[in-house]
Amino acid sequence: MLQETEFLKTNLSKTERIRWSSAGDPNGPVIVLFVGIHGNETAGIEAIDNIKESLKSDDWDLHGTIYAVTGNIEALKKGVRFVDVDLNRLWELFDTEQDYSRLNGPDHPSEYLESLQIKSALDTIFEHHRNEAVEFIFADLHTTSSESCAFILLNDTLSNRDIARKFPVPQILGIEENIHGTLLSYINNLGYKAIGFEAGAHMAVDSINRSEAFLWMLFHNAKVIQLDKQAINYHATQLQAHPDVPDTYYDIRYHHYIEDNTKFEMLEGFKNFDIIEKGTPLAYDHGELIKAEISGRIFMPLYQQSGNDGFMIIDTVSPFWLRLSSYLRKSFVHKLLKYLPGVSQLDNQIFEVNLRIARFLVKDIFHLFGYRVTKKDEYTLTCYRR
Ligand SMILES: [Zn+2]
Repeated sequence: MLQETEFLKTNLSKTERIRWSSAGDPNGPVIVLFVGIHGNETAGIEAIDNIKESLKSDDWDLHGTIYAVTGNIEALKKGVRFVDVDLNRLWELFDTEQDYSRLNGPDHPSEYLESLQIKSALDTIFEHHRNEAVEFIFADLHTTSSESCAFILLNDTLSNRDIARKFPVPQILGIEENIHGTLLSYINNLGYKAIGFEAGAHMAVDSINRSEAFLWMLFHNAKVIQLDKQAINYHATQLQAHPDVPDTYYDIRYHHYIEDNTKFEMLEGFKNFDIIEKGTPLAYDHGELIKAEISGRIFMPLYQQSGNDGFMIIDTVSPFWLRLSSYLRKSFVHKLLKYLPGVSQLDNQIFEVNLRIARFLVKDIFHLFGYRVTKKDEYTLTCYRR
C-alpha cells in the first residue's frame, strides 16, 4: 500500500491538477485527457485550451463528461521534458521495492509528487462517477523530437484497438513491451481503454491543429458530441499522414535503448516513419556507429538531450494477423497454451516460456493471444495476459 507521508499530504492539495472539465448528460461516456506529461510538449495543452473555448462559445450539448488533466506542472514551468525522472516511465513502480514512497521528504523526485497528484485527480473523477455505469476513455497527448506525421500508440488490447482504429493515422501496437511504466499502461491495468496520440514535432504549428482534430474526432467517435459530415472530413484531412506512410497497424521490431543520452547522437535527417534498409547507419552511441539491424521504418529517432529511447524500428502488421488474433483472443483456445512444449502456467494470467525448449514462434503465438511478452533472462520469457 502507498504510505502518504505528512510531506506528501500537505503537497497534494497545492496544485489544481484538473485543468478544466465540461459536463453534460451524466449517463454518457467520461473522457479523460492528459496533456503535458512531458514538460516540453505543449501542443496538446494549447489544443485542449482552444477546445475549451469552442465548447463554451458554441454552446455544445455534451452527452457525457470531459476532463483535461495537466501532466508535469513543474517541468512545464521550466520547459523541460522532466525535472528529476520521466513522468511517463514511473507508473509501474507503485507498490514495488522501488516505490518512491519508501524514500523520505525532499528526496522524492519531483515527478513522484506529480504522479501522486495525478492519481488523486483520477480518484476524484472515479469517485464522482461512482454511481453511474459509464464508460471511461483515456487519451494522452504528446509530440516528438523528430519531424513526424500524427500517429497513435496503444497497448494491444481489443478494446484499445476499437477506439484507435477510427482515426486515419498510423497505429503502433505493443509499446508496453518496449517502454515500461507509462501512464497508459497504468490506466490499462486499471481496466480502462487508453490510447496515446502523438501529434508531430514539438514546436510545429501542425501539432496543435492535429491535436485539436484528434480531440474533436475522439469526442465524436465516443458519441459525446455529434459532428456533421463536413466537420468530420475537415478533421480527418488535418490528421491524415503523408501518402508514404500508410495509416495501418505497425509493431515494434527493434528498440535501441540508451543508458546515457549525452553519449548518443542520432545522425541528422531522419523523419519518423522513414523507410530504412538493414545496414543503414543511424546513430553514434559511445562513439560507435550504430547501423540498422533489420529493415523497416525508423520510429521516434531521438533528437533531444533527454530520454532513454534512441530509436526504434517498426513494420506493418498484416490485416490477416490482426483478424486472427482478434478471433483467438475471444476463443477458448487460451486454455491450450499451457500444453505447448516449454510453456508453464504461473497463474491464470501469466505463463513462463523456457526458450531452450520452445524456440520457434513463441513470442508470436503469445502475441496472437493478446499477451504482453517480456524477457526475464536469456532463456526465459514471461507472458502476461493484457
Ligand atoms: Zn511525450
